[in-house]
Amino acid sequence: MSNIIILSILHTRIMCYRMRMKPVQWKDVQKAIKTSDRIYDTDMITLAYETALNAHDGQFRATGEPYIHHPLAVAKRLVEWHMDQEVVIAGILHDVPEDTEMTIEDIEKDFGKNIARLVGGITKLSTIKYRGMERYAENLRKMFIAMSTDIRVIVIKFADRLHNLKTLDGLRPDKRHRIALESLEIYAPIADRLGMGAIKTELEDISFKWVLPEAYADVIKKVEHLLPTLEDNLNAMTKAITKLMKTHDVPIVSIHGRRKGLYSLHKKLCRKHHDITQIYDIIALRLITDSEKHCYQALGIIHGTFTPLPGRIKDYIALPKINGYRSLHTTVFTNHRHHDEIIDGREALEIQIRTPEIHEQAEYGVAAHWHYKQTGSATASKETLEWVTDLVKWQEDISNEDLIERLKTDVFHDRIFVLTPHGDPINLPDGATVIDFAYAVHTDIGHACIGARVNEVMVSLDTKLKSGDMVHILTDKNRTKPNPDWLHIVKTHSAKEKIRARLKNFPIM
Ligand code: MN
Repeated sequence: MSNIIILSILHTRIMCYRMRMKPVQWKDVQKAIKTSDRIYDTDMITLAYETALNAHDGQFRATGEPYIHHPLAVAKRLVEWHMDQEVVIAGILHDVPEDTEMTIEDIEKDFGKNIARLVGGITKLSTIKYRGMERYAENLRKMFIAMSTDIRVIVIKFADRLHNLKTLDGLRPDKRHRIALESLEIYAPIADRLGMGAIKTELEDISFKWVLPEAYADVIKKVEHLLPTLEDNLNAMTKAITKLMKTHDVPIVSIHGRRKGLYSLHKKLCRKHHDITQIYDIIALRLITDSEKHCYQALGIIHGTFTPLPGRIKDYIALPKINGYRSLHTTVFTNHRHHDEIIDGREALEIQIRTPEIHEQAEYGVAAHWHYKQTGSATASKETLEWVTDLVKWQEDISNEDLIERLKTDVFHDRIFVLTPHGDPINLPDGATVIDFAYAVHTDIGHACIGARVNEVMVSLDTKLKSGDMVHILTDKNRTKPNPDWLHIVKTHSAKEKIRARLKNFPIM
C-alpha cells in the first residue's frame, strides 16, 4: 500500500463520522457476496431478500428511507465479516417478526429451524428497551441467554446496532442518547470481551460522539492537529522497516498505519492527565508477516536498528490478553541517532507485529475462528464459551444491582495478568490485591494467606497488583480463617464470596 493511500485512509476514517451514509441497496449486498471468499447459496439469500422486501413494504426508517435498506445494510456487514449463510439470512430477516405480520413460525416454515432460532434470538433482544437500571439488567440477562443459545445472535445484533448508530441523527434526542449510551456501556464491552477489536472500536467511536459531544470534539481537534507530524513519521518508518525486512528476508504480507479509536484515545487521555504527548500509539505501524517465527525475527531486527522504549515491549503472542488478543507490541525511538536526547512522544512510534491469522482474530474475535459443523451451528473457542456460560450461571441467581456491579468489576473492567512463582498467568481485574490473587490461585491458599512477596519484595496484603507482577503467597498451615477486614480490601466478587462463606462457618468468638 502506498503512503498516499495510508494518509487518505486515516483522514477518511475521521471524516466518515461526520457524513451520512448512502443507503445500502440489494446490489451492494450481491456485490459483497460475489467478492467474498466464502461460498453463499445466492438463491436462498435472494429468497430472504424478497421475503423481507414484501414484509417491510410501505415501512420507512426514521431517516425517511424505505425500511429494507436497514436489513440490507446489516446483511452486507455480516458478509464483510465472513459470517455464514444462516447468519446473513437471519440478518436480512431480523426485523420481520417484530415489525411485520410475518411470524417466527412463518420464517421456520420457509427457512428452517436454525434461521428461525437466530431471528427469534434477535427479536427477544429488542423487546425490552433501556429505561433505567431495572430494565438495564433485564436487558443484559436477555442478551446473555440469547448469546448462550447461539453466540451468532450477538454478532447479528452488533451489525444491527452499528447501522442504527450510523442513522441516529433521524431520531429524537432522548432516544438517540439512550441507544448511544447503551452501545457504549453494554455492546462495546461485550464486543471487546469477545475479542472483536474492529467492531468494538466502531461501536465506541460512533456512540462517543452522541454521549460526550464536547469530549469528542476535543479529541478530534487534538488528533487533527498532530496528524501531519504523526503521518510523516509513520511514512518514514514504513519505508525504513520495509527496507530492513527485505534486507533480512522477512516477508511482508502487509505494512500499514492504524489510528487509535477516538473513544479509546479519550479514555487514555483521561488517564494521562490530558497530555497527548504521553500517548505513543495514536498512530501505530502494523507489520503483518507470514509466521510467528518471522514476527519474533522482525521484532529483533527492528530493535537492532531502533532503540525500544523501556517497559513497552509486549509479547501478547506468548501471553494473550484474556479476550484472546495476540500480537507483538513495541515502541521505538524513530530517530535512533538522537536516542540519548530527551525525546517527546512524536518521535516514538508503536509497532504491532502479527500474522494474518492473528490479525483476523484480533479484528473479528470469536467470529474469525468459529468452526462450522454440518448442521451450521457454531462453536467458539473454549474460553469464550466458558465465559458466556459463566454469565448465564450468575445472572440466574443474583439481584439486578449485583449483576451490574459484578459486570463492572469482573467483566467490563480492564484486566491484568499476574504470574505465579511457576510463571502461570492469573487473570484479575485492574485494582485486584494480593488477597484476590491468593483466592484466585486456590481457596485454601486464600484462607491461609499471611503475607506475600511481589517481585521478591515483601508487601502488605492490601497491595494492588500490576500486570506482569510475580506473586509468591506466604501461608500458615494452621490458619484456616480469613480476616473479616479482608472483605473491604478485596476487589473480586469470587474472593468476597469465598471469604463470606468461610466466615459463616466460624462462630463469632
Ligand atoms: Mn434492526
